[in-house]
Amino acid sequence: MNRPLHHSYHTVAIIGGGASGMMAALTAAQVPERRVVLLERQQRIGRKLLATGNGRCNLTNIFAKPQDYYGSDSSFAKPALMLFTPHDTLRFFTNLGLLTTTEADGRVYPLSDSSNSVLDVLRFALTQAGVEQFCGASVDAVIPDEQGFRIEYGGDRLEADAVILACGGAAGSKLGGVMDGYRLGKTLGHKRTSLYPSLTRIVTDSEYPRSLKGIRVQAELRLTRGDILLADGSGEVQFTEKGVSGPAGFNLSRAAATGGPDLILHLSFLPYRRDDLLELLLRRVQTFPSLETSELFTGMLHNRLGRILVKAASLSPSAPLSALSVPQLMQAAAICEDFTLPVSGVEGFEAAQVTAGGLQTAQFDPLSLESRLVPGLFACGELLDIDGPCGGYNLQWAWASGALAGRLGT
Ligand SMILES: Cc1cc2nc3c(=O)[nH]c(=O)nc-3n(C[C@H](O)[C@H](O)[C@H](O)COP(=O)(O)OP(=O)(O)OC[C@H]3O[C@@H](n4cnc5c(N)ncnc54)[C@H](O)[C@@H]3O)c2cc1C
Repeated sequence: MNRPLHHSYHTVAIIGGGASGMMAALTAAQVPERRVVLLERQQRIGRKLLATGNGRCNLTNIFAKPQDYYGSDSSFAKPALMLFTPHDTLRFFTNLGLLTTTEADGRVYPLSDSSNSVLDVLRFALTQAGVEQFCGASVDAVIPDEQGFRIEYGGDRLEADAVILACGGAAGSKLGGVMDGYRLGKTLGHKRTSLYPSLTRIVTDSEYPRSLKGIRVQAELRLTRGDILLADGSGEVQFTEKGVSGPAGFNLSRAAATGGPDLILHLSFLPYRRDDLLELLLRRVQTFPSLETSELFTGMLHNRLGRILVKAASLSPSAPLSALSVPQLMQAAAICEDFTLPVSGVEGFEAAQVTAGGLQTAQFDPLSLESRLVPGLFACGELLDIDGPCGGYNLQWAWASGALAGRLGT
């Protein structure tokens, strides 16, 4: 392939009509006279976007910084994220007429609280910009040829001078997460890393989580293997049938998926250290000596959680509080400060919000997102080996990388 380096790219094909593909298309279409074609295998564009943020679409996080992202070489994401910051995302959507609201933790949502609003303004913009949208067009092959690329989809074909792979990752398989992008990349010589589900439920020993199912609590979390701290965080945790979810649980799921065997999840339920907790429990015993031990944590924690901690501390729930010894109270305080759950893994790609891993970033130029192997081929979004925490970070990467890829090296 000896195509010129500075190609004017008259026809640009974008494979994948998700967040990053739509942004890439809108950016590419800023060049007058250029034909921009967005190919989407599903019957409509932006299907996953509609499901984001529980249907509210947490479209960015104003606190997102390049160092918040993960990947084999997370610094790869920096140029894209610096060129298109969360404030650029806000400006971009404000210009399209989207009203937004920003929560205290930096999460940005449409004021309408409906992800439809985000997709609607993107659809208007695509139409206004003259982007051709081919839905139900599942791309089977991208073949470099003398003119550029031949793109084959469902028995049809399209010639393009440049191609942007924006096929997303394997996560959210019910919403269209597929392996296509990795497969198309492979046929073009691109390698991928191992793939792991991330931002998903952590599966643990289920005895206690099952009894706590549905309860949401604020907690500090740590994930360890032996003496090694693999990840930590704090925030809302929700107990499920098989383990834990909620934003704080999700944020540790990447480490749980990639951290190997013998992992332990530690939860600390109250903002007190062990000695202070012991003081609180001693006071409870003095105030209500004839209460049953099952009420030891009542008023401090969700009732069901309090009773589970009593059980986990091997205390007799029906015995009066006055019968508890100081070592037993110390044990209860210790369990409340460090409640441990052996981890057996994470739930799969179907439930995951994002894919950890992807096309190897070393094979792309971080300043343009152009392939180092195939000139005129670009990639963006979740397909690349970059992912972020829960809270608008992954869509921010999709917008930023889509905006950079859509510049097509200019
Ligand atoms: C349930 C859920 C909730 C989420 N909530 C949030 C949130 O609130 N905030 C946040 O920041 N992130 C959230 N995420 C993550 C975020 O949605 C993704 O990281 C983001 O959509 C990735 O954008 P993308 O363009 O790379 O991929 P996608 O949005 O997945 O788009 C890829 C598109 O390519 C299409 N495609 C694939 N293969 C082909 C092919 N062969 N031919 C043609 N088209 C193809 C797919 O159908 C899809 O439409 C959530 C994810 C899920 C699953």
